[in-house]
Amino acid sequence: MTTARCSCGAVTLSLPGPSRLVVACHCIDCQRRTGAPFGVGAFYPAETIAVSGEPKEFTRAAASGGKVHSYFCTLCGSTVYWKSSNLPAFIGVAVGAIADATNPAPVRSVFEQSKHAWVEIGGAGVEHFQQSSAPKKPGASD
Ligand SMILES: [Zn+2]
Ligand SMILES: [Zn+2]
Repeated sequence: MTTARCSCGAVTLSLPGPSRLVVACHCIDCQRRTGAPFGVGAFYPAETIAVSGEPKEFTRAAASGGKVHSYFCTLCGSTVYWKSSNLPAFIGVAVGAIADATNPAPVRSVFEQSKHAWVEIGGAGVEHFQQSSAPKKPGASD
């Protein structure tokens, strides 16, 4: 069992374990969401995640079309997870909220068109995309 939580712990997710479907995203929205140069999400089938606490939802237009709903703690402000209308069966969990240095590394690096020049998402087999990786969906066999 793996958990992800906000800074204060009021919003906590129970996860079935580490996900190998980890995506680094360099889009401007992820930069603003995290306050960091890029965001990293671990994707899980939605039905495998249990949420405790009462996060607030923030909805924005996705860079790849559709909408992204981010869920954040109203006490400490950390975003813990998000849902995309493009991928309704999945939940993206902020890898930083898992706070486990052994979490699997990204297998995809997307929206590299706005990647900070000094950032390198390395490792063999990482797929790199200037924009989104659509139409390929997380979890699709490829
Ligand atoms: Zn919190
Ligand atoms: Zn992004």
